[in-house]
Amino acid sequence: MERLTDPLTSGERSALEPIDLAAMLARTEQWSAINSGTGNLAGLARMADALADAFSALPGAVELREPAPVTALDAQGREIEQQNGRHLVLRVRPEAERRILLTGHMDTVFPADHPFQTARWIDAETLNAPGAADMKGGLAVMLEALKCFEISEVSGLLGYDVMINADEETGSLSSAALIAELARGKAAALTYEPSALPDGTLAHARGGSGNFAVAVTGRSAHAGRNPHEGRNALVAAAGLAVQLKGLEHDGLSVNPAKIEGGSANNVVPDHAVLRFNIRPKTTEAAVAFARDFNRMVSDIEKGHQVSLRVHGGITRPPKPVDAGAQTLFDLVQRTGADLGQHFGWRATGGVCDGNNIAAFGVPVVDTMGVRGGAIHSADEYLIVPSLAERARLSALVLHRLANGVHL
Ligand SMILES: [Zn+2]
Repeated sequence: MERLTDPLTSGERSALEPIDLAAMLARTEQWSAINSGTGNLAGLARMADALADAFSALPGAVELREPAPVTALDAQGREIEQQNGRHLVLRVRPEAERRILLTGHMDTVFPADHPFQTARWIDAETLNAPGAADMKGGLAVMLEALKCFEISEVSGLLGYDVMINADEETGSLSSAALIAELARGKAAALTYEPSALPDGTLAHARGGSGNFAVAVTGRSAHAGRNPHEGRNALVAAAGLAVQLKGLEHDGLSVNPAKIEGGSANNVVPDHAVLRFNIRPKTTEAAVAFARDFNRMVSDIEKGHQVSLRVHGGITRPPKPVDAGAQTLFDLVQRTGADLGQHFGWRATGGVCDGNNIAAFGVPVVDTMGVRGGAIHSADEYLIVPSLAERARLSALVLHRLANGVHL
């Protein structure tokens, strides 16, 4: 009987042997039990300590970087500082010729007072727990793959930085500069968001996202005595919301989400804050939006005789898949197939740190994490065997990147 050729070399095969599903599951359970909602600074500090402890098994020194200052507009249109947790960075073999970036996030969307705090087994292979899929399971996958890689014979050929931020779920505003610093000069990047679909499908091209707040200042007046002397900030904000919605086309969605402000019924309101999100599919759509929005702001100012102050912007640039990124997708897919894992990819409207990494021209596959689903809800689940499956995939991709596979 003829034997089929093993697609893995013996070096590759032995590099995958140490993968330990039980250890990964134990870490995922331990980390999911720590509430690390983006606003829970104490929980994030505990989470960062647990991660620093686990990642210290790798070479290099773990550092915790201070978050960059971030501001938001309050309901009165005043700029207020937002607090964020510290970000974990680990640099390994900075002198290596080929270096890559691995990223993940330690925060979740579940605040400390959210009812979803504990783990529950749905069946023998499915764990329902906060952050189990997004992305504490993914962090366990990243660590296990790196541990395996470090004891392989090719580890000296590849250097890498690990970055685990504490503010991904609110847009990575306090870690954007850190991501930029670490992305520069990297040959490739892997990000450990859960797969786009429970079957392992990867996220391919991504649209971008921008969050804006516009503070409108008008002039108050009595609604009965001198209404003509007033400049109604609420009406201006509403006018802007309607015009913004009108900018929508196939490549751009706009969601006016909230108007705050106003006054008593007999007073012309002198302030309002309009908040909205946009999703440009392409860089061109993002550029066109910026131009149209600027024009709209000055039209509203003139037409309503109010002043507008814009806060925010497009903080997740659209992520097209160029030839370099496609080569990395092909490598990941081929590597999966060699392991008997068959998956495709699809474009998505969701955003993540992969958007920000790709903005520096670095090829990135950003759904290297676990298979699971219902993320950002109390039904979030992790398909437990996928911990080992995805660790094998990552470890083999690292092995091949170290071996100088063409990118
Ligand atoms: Zn995530």
